[in-house]
Amino acid sequence: MKCPDCEEDIEIEDWMDDKPFGCPHCGEILQLVTDEGGYSGANDKRLVLYDKS
Ligand SMILES: [Zn+2]
Repeated sequence: MKCPDCEEDIEIEDWMDDKPFGCPHCGEILQLVTDEGGYSGANDKRLVLYDKS
């Protein structure tokens, strides 16, 4: 999984864990989110920059 900010690879240990965490490379706060997409119910996980609002 790539960091959306610095594009370095990040190892995801727990794909069910959606708690924000700091990128070990650039320090940005990231969150794993489920992208429901809409294609035949497929769920994609992706990393996004954490929105604090
Ligand atoms: Zn990063």
